[in-house]
Amino acid sequence: MKYPRVIIDLKKLENNIEQIVRVAKREAGCTTLALVTKGHCADAEIVKLIAKNPDVDYLADSRIENIKKYYDALGTSASGKLNGGKKTMMLRIPMQSELADIVKYIDLCQISEIETIKLLNREAASAGKVQDILLMIDMGDLREGLIFTDRERIHEVVSEILKLANISLRGISVNMNCYGAIIPKEDNLSEFVSIARETEEKHGISLDVISGGNSGTIYLAEAGKLPIGITNLRIGEGYLQGTESSYAGNVSGADQDAFVLEAEIVEVQTKPSLPIGESGLDAFGHAPYYEDKGDMKRAIIAVGKQDTELDSMTPLDAKIGIMGGSSDHIIIDITNCDKEYDVGDAVKFRLGYSGMLRAMTSEYVAKTYK
Ligand SMILES: *Cc1c(COP(=O)(O)O)cnc(C)c1O
Repeated sequence: MKYPRVIIDLKKLENNIEQIVRVAKREAGCTTLALVTKGHCADAEIVKLIAKNPDVDYLADSRIENIKKYYDALGTSASGKLNGGKKTMMLRIPMQSELADIVKYIDLCQISEIETIKLLNREAASAGKVQDILLMIDMGDLREGLIFTDRERIHEVVSEILKLANISLRGISVNMNCYGAIIPKEDNLSEFVSIARETEEKHGISLDVISGGNSGTIYLAEAGKLPIGITNLRIGEGYLQGTESSYAGNVSGADQDAFVLEAEIVEVQTKPSLPIGESGLDAFGHAPYYEDKGDMKRAIIAVGKQDTELDSMTPLDAKIGIMGGSSDHIIIDITNCDKEYDVGDAVKFRLGYSGMLRAMTSEYVAKTYK
């Protein structure tokens, strides 16, 4: 066995995907659903699992490198599209330096800057393609998008877009719960929908993808309060962690432990709880504080902050405490454990989103499936 490793439970993920399909499509009435793969760097087995679900419409990611992996995982048809009929969606507003790849690999691109849209139009024209886009609207979270308070500017940009022969404006998109930690609610999402309706009326167009957010919107959908007119959601955390991100609740029927990290113990020693000597800064430049709890039984596991995030790990043995760590080591408190841990034993942790992201990104962590 090679440690550290992530154990990915594909059965649980399959169930979680089905729960998200139920909430977004059957209950909230979305016509399309995008599942987001950046949390696991577009792992091929998970991508294939998503592709098996007929109710998922888009595979979405923030990084073009991850989206390119879809084509290897699923294969392509003669026309260069993904086998199985899923479309690709780019979440991060694109860099001007990656527009050739956008045209080549992306079916639907979220975007906000008119200058970039014009360059994308040129790139699409030279490839003989009409590029679908979603114009991002900022409803107050203050990350990407045109700010909702300036309608005039939004309509100016839409007018400009409609002049571009190789761009098709498919709809608008909003992202919350990120920079400003603003919670999607009935009021701000209703206003977002009204911007779509106003845009259709003013410009004589129809918009079919009104993308109402990420896993922070799940709680509204589950409560039957997603405003009518939202036709799409983009969900990552919801199917990966089984949680929603506005109030840290669980998605009903979903599993929260599809990702487990297993690491090997390389030292077990009884040592004092207080470091000995004059204290300065730790490995990351912080001055730590330690409480004197007398002698403790401590173990070191061979995994570190390069591979996971300490706050995002929950030991499956509830009597293990996580004491701290550095790039390559994590120290755990095994004083109160019933099991006698030994050097060479493996310990398991449930991974939250950021721990999962780091473990899936780290080339030092093996990926296994069950
Ligand atoms: C990451 C991301 C998502 C998915 O977020 P989750 O909270 O994981 O559901 C959706 N939209 C955008 C723009 C993103 O960057």
